[in-house]
Amino acid sequence: MRYGALRGTRQDGARQDGAPRIGVVGAGILGTVLALRLAQGGAKVTLLERAPTPGGLAGSMDFEGHRVDRFYHVVVPSDERMIALARELGLAAELHFTPVGVGFFVDGQMHPFNGLGDFLRFPPLSPAGRARLAWFVLQCQLRKGYSSLEQLPLEHWLKRHCGDEVVRRIWRPLLDSRFDSEHAELPATYLWARTNRMRSARGGGGGGERMGAIAGGGHERLVLAAARKARELGVQIRLGAGVEGLVLEGADVAGVRVDGAEERFDLTIPTLQPPALRRLLPPALHNLLDAYPSRYLGVVCLILKLRRSLLPYYSVNICDATPMTTVVETSHVVGTAHTDGLRLAYLPKYCDPGAPEFSEDDESIYRRFTAMLARLAPGFTHDDVVAWTVQRAPLVEPVHALGHHPRTAPLWPGVEGLGLASASQVYPRLLNGESIVELAERVAAQALERVRPPAPDSAHAGAPRRSTAGDPAPAQRAPAPR
Ligand SMILES: Cc1cc2nc3c(=O)[nH]c(=O)nc-3n(C[C@H](O)[C@H](O)[C@H](O)COP(=O)(O)OP(=O)(O)OC[C@H]3O[C@@H](n4cnc5c(N)ncnc54)[C@H](O)[C@@H]3O)c2cc1C
Repeated sequence: MRYGALRGTRQDGARQDGAPRIGVVGAGILGTVLALRLAQGGAKVTLLERAPTPGGLAGSMDFEGHRVDRFYHVVVPSDERMIALARELGLAAELHFTPVGVGFFVDGQMHPFNGLGDFLRFPPLSPAGRARLAWFVLQCQLRKGYSSLEQLPLEHWLKRHCGDEVVRRIWRPLLDSRFDSEHAELPATYLWARTNRMRSARGGGGGGERMGAIAGGGHERLVLAAARKARELGVQIRLGAGVEGLVLEGADVAGVRVDGAEERFDLTIPTLQPPALRRLLPPALHNLLDAYPSRYLGVVCLILKLRRSLLPYYSVNICDATPMTTVVETSHVVGTAHTDGLRLAYLPKYCDPGAPEFSEDDESIYRRFTAMLARLAPGFTHDDVVAWTVQRAPLVEPVHALGHHPRTAPLWPGVEGLGLASASQVYPRLLNGESIVELAERVAAQALERVRPPAPDSAHAGAPRRSTAGDPAPAQRAPAPR
């Protein structure tokens, strides 16, 4: 059967002679799901990953005898693609949702924030402040489009709708800790997208949030199951294969250089974020990076393994001066069956890759972050800590700034043989498994379309063709966040 006949039919297991060869670089969620979908569409896929295991940021690690998420990962009930993927991969029965609490720490006091009742009582704000905040959140939820927010500085928008009190006491401190004290460049779109995502974590009726995770391994189990299925479909997954660069043939990309040798593909799709992609691009293609944001945040995360639960909340919004962005006690969602009853708390600090936290020694991070934790959770002592570790990832998410146009770089940059897909291209959606899987599936569908051979009556029937044009306009339009 010719490759063209397979297109769109998802014939699992079909690997066709003469099928186009597609190379995917990076086996995080994006690269792995992309490889799976391409193989299901009939392509011959090679997935190249530098690390010894797939997973990327969603991977797990050994933490003193327990396998745990390197960073914390949950799904919310509206994450349709993640839930569908779990079902497809036979993991649905192990995906459990749990009601979770959220706390707000303001002026040295912890306040529950779980539904309408808590909101109406919320002591840090005056009744007028609460009313304005409620009105603002409602407006965000009712707003369908975001184009009018794109040129609006976020803080300006917040002041106009929420007033000085709410900005000073709530929004500014939260943005400071989330964006390493630099958020003047953010468009209003950011908070609109965030508010909508958090709404989707809430059930109807003004209740609290619900979060879910796959038992005993979260997102990593999903990635590993996707990789397993991809392999069954013929995807060649090469681990420990750090791609050294893209191979140019004239002006076209003809493949990659890996382990000192050239590997040729009809289409090559790196899934790395631009600062990492830069190292792979030949100088002649560096101009492609101009379409991407220029600022990226990393994460330095203290992880504690604890004898007991410290907080009744999954996460805490910290509005006082704080060395870390939040505290996330994941055991409220992932349970403790895989950690012998011990509990896990993640204390991340989102910061620029050049921030002092990236070179600060681990002991110092531990001391500073746990000193803050003791304020949030009175009664915390170091005896509660069974083990701890500090994990660092210098490249986590792009900061989409005002004035940068277009906001997302094209998936098809107009270089034959090259597609570019990365976490920097999910805007205006927030970066998470759901938006990444949506991107992977969109890229796979377009890639298969582009390498499809022409119709049988065409002069070149039977020969896979590589793309020549840039991104078609519709592919640039990201869907609104749910
Ligand atoms: C602290 C934190 C909390 C999060 N919480 C959540 C959450 O609750 N829910 C949620 O859904 N998402 C969450 N996320 C987001 C989620 O982790 C990311 O959206 C997702 O993992 C991004 O996947 P990716 O494949 O795009 O990138 P990555 O995971 O970064 O994958 C890129 C891959 O490329 C590989 N690579 C790099 N260079 C090369 C090379 N030269 N050759 C070959 N391979 C290479 C890397 O090793 C890596 O495996 C969180 C992220 C962080 C950091």
